[in-house]
Amino acid sequence: MIHNFNAGPSILPKTVFQQAAEAVINFNNSGLSILELGHRTPAFTEVMEEARSLVKELMHLNDDYEVLFLHGGASTQFMQVPMNLLDPKDTVAYADTGVWSSKAIKEAKLFGKVEIACSSKDKNYSYIPNDFAIPNDSKYFHITTNNTIYGTQWQSIPKTSNVLVADMSSDIFSRELNFNDFGLIYAGAQKNMGPAGVNLVVVDSNILGKVKHPIPTIMDYRNHIAEGSMLNTPPVFAVYVCLLTLRWLKELGGVKEIEKLNIKKATLLYNEIDRNEIFETSVNPADRSKMNVCFATKNKAHEKLFLDFAASNGIIGIQGHRLSGAFRASLYNALPLSSVEVLVDLMKNFEQSVV
Ligand SMILES: *Cc1c(COP(=O)(O)O)cnc(C)c1O
Repeated sequence: MIHNFNAGPSILPKTVFQQAAEAVINFNNSGLSILELGHRTPAFTEVMEEARSLVKELMHLNDDYEVLFLHGGASTQFMQVPMNLLDPKDTVAYADTGVWSSKAIKEAKLFGKVEIACSSKDKNYSYIPNDFAIPNDSKYFHITTNNTIYGTQWQSIPKTSNVLVADMSSDIFSRELNFNDFGLIYAGAQKNMGPAGVNLVVVDSNILGKVKHPIPTIMDYRNHIAEGSMLNTPPVFAVYVCLLTLRWLKELGGVKEIEKLNIKKATLLYNEIDRNEIFETSVNPADRSKMNVCFATKNKAHEKLFLDFAASNGIIGIQGHRLSGAFRASLYNALPLSSVEVLVDLMKNFEQSVV
């Protein structure tokens, strides 16, 4: 039995893999593979339309919002967002809460003047800043809702009159938020939604069309909206797998239900880290991520011992990111509670065996 705690690409529901595998051979009993269909055939345009409308439904988005599935990773959006929303003289504000935020900031600087409204870099990104001001003239304010590498998460979304832009790559569809408070949300698919290679972009169409500089055709969100997210050949297979995951989520009761499960999983693991003599976490308690749980052994000598012990019991992917230390257990939507129970039991057994 394997328990997949990978940070990304990461676990998806088994039924999604089975349906996706079937579609590679014989899509909807058409005798054709999903990989050999024309993307403008009704068979595929229905896939795209259902995926887009499921996103609107699951996020309770009002009619101002457009849903796009675009090529690339979240890293592409680091550039595409400011390209669509900023002119060179404009000011924009970013929250610097980790590696992905800083990468987004670097790209935004190519398009306008970036103000760092707040940063948690002083303490190795172990917390979420809570006392800061956003310059009034900022075209938008950008946050990374969940910091995949450092294991912090904005528990509530800052109130602001500025347009709010969020990178939700690693907590999209994991919890309820008022998504209508955002001007633009983007997420690479491979953490909680589908395979690598496609981005979800949710945008309030009212914020577009305000910049004066030309935007390359394929980079302009408005062109993608006009073409129903089919401006050019979309990443058809990735979009189809996203659709399967969205159907799975809807079937389960939607974001509200998965959030309950995610709270259970994260609570179970954090409680054990706090209780166990061997382990600790440096993440500020109020800011702990429910998606990526970062922790370490108090005694460095225990680190490899526990990794080996966990690996020999089917635990995959808990080795931490090189920047944030020993372990990271990613608890994305498709990870069952039973996998967290196995990990917690191993932590207890390990404690028994070394003290
Ligand atoms: C993984 C990740 C990214 C980068 O995604 P790519 O698809 O590799 O470009 C960006 N932001 C966050 C929050 C992530 O977790």
